[in-house]
Amino acid sequence: MIIKNRLQFFLLLLFVFTFFSCGKKDEEITLKAKLIHDRILTVDTHSDTPLLMIDSTWDIGVRHETEKVRDSKIDLPRMEEGGLDVEFFAAYVGQRERTPEKYKWAKARAVELISVIKVMCEKYGNIISLGIKPGDAYKNHRAGLLTAYIGMENGFPIGMDLENVKYYFDQGVRYITLCHYTNNDICDSSTDPDGPEHHGLSDFGRQIVKEMNRLGMIIDVSHISDESFYDVLEVSKAPVIASHSCTRALCDHPRNMSDKMIQALAAKGGVIQMCFFTGYVKKERPNRKREAALDELEGKYGPWNEIEDSEIKEEYRKKRWAIMKKYPRRKTTVKKLVDHIDHVIKLVGVDYVGIGTDFDGGGGLIGCNDISEMVNVTKELVRKGYSEEDIEKIWGGNFMRVFREVVKISEQDRIPNESIH
Ligand SMILES: [Zn+2]
Repeated sequence: MIIKNRLQFFLLLLFVFTFFSCGKKDEEITLKAKLIHDRILTVDTHSDTPLLMIDSTWDIGVRHETEKVRDSKIDLPRMEEGGLDVEFFAAYVGQRERTPEKYKWAKARAVELISVIKVMCEKYGNIISLGIKPGDAYKNHRAGLLTAYIGMENGFPIGMDLENVKYYFDQGVRYITLCHYTNNDICDSSTDPDGPEHHGLSDFGRQIVKEMNRLGMIIDVSHISDESFYDVLEVSKAPVIASHSCTRALCDHPRNMSDKMIQALAAKGGVIQMCFFTGYVKKERPNRKREAALDELEGKYGPWNEIEDSEIKEEYRKKRWAIMKKYPRRKTTVKKLVDHIDHVIKLVGVDYVGIGTDFDGGGGLIGCNDISEMVNVTKELVRKGYSEEDIEKIWGGNFMRVFREVVKISEQDRIPNESIH
């Protein structure tokens, strides 16, 4: 009896010791992560927040709540809370019919989205500054300012006019994701239900890649098909990025990259930026009831991208929200996201991976559901034993190296006296 009590006492002591030492270890990791996170430059290469910014009643300078009907993951107060220094705001234009009218519409839409990013930088110039060159991010960081760069998701607004690439570059756009959910005139998409159309880049797409190289604009291979990806690597003189994609080895989805693709990307000096969309992080079990309800909704209203009336769009949004509330998607964790980072590092080393959340475009994980929780990524990296030097590369150093290289290659090729603004 006494022995049993002693044993129980010993086990209790062991439990208390383990509990407190784990708690202490977690506290140490949190503190270490916070210090590193504050010191380094943190870069997120993809968000769709301009889709909210375009609504004049929505103010990026005000703190918003996540998980509301108008779900919001990024605003300036939460960027500061999350220690996120650099954000690429994407001017996303959904793919429509490839007609002169729709091309005109797409350009007008892109211009509007670009302008709201600039308006934000003017209105909140004491908090965030527009980035044009790679060095701007570091300069702003030293001055205590956040940086907003402009990206473009989908090359559709280029239309069939090659000169538009320079037009957008002059407007401040620093990367273009060549296509989106479906094929366009530039290349095939990884998710077009009708399959390949060009079997990679079209001839026009090849010209666009070369023009982007000439200007010093980053080529983004997220969303494009495998054939398009290999074509881009062949044509592009400069390294390229995948602004928001994960690894197929851990989550087999056409939007993610295979090990072979990651090796080819790295061999060219590029970088893959991990996306926080649950469906790309962990294979989802389909929910038939949810899919049927969403299909029914789409049957009634047509594709989301094609709704132009703002009242109908709002009605659709509310109904969609109610369905998602009834059949919620089970989010995966930030730990699983960091497993993808780990996989890339084991495959090709620490120099070819980064972060591209896709916040306000579908991104959001348990433990990192909005921009205010970004330190949790650093915490997981510290827990896995990564050094500050490695974490700095993952959080922005790798991407900024590619950005600098893209600019450098364009400058090397420029004829003297030819100026690119
Ligand atoms: Zn996307």
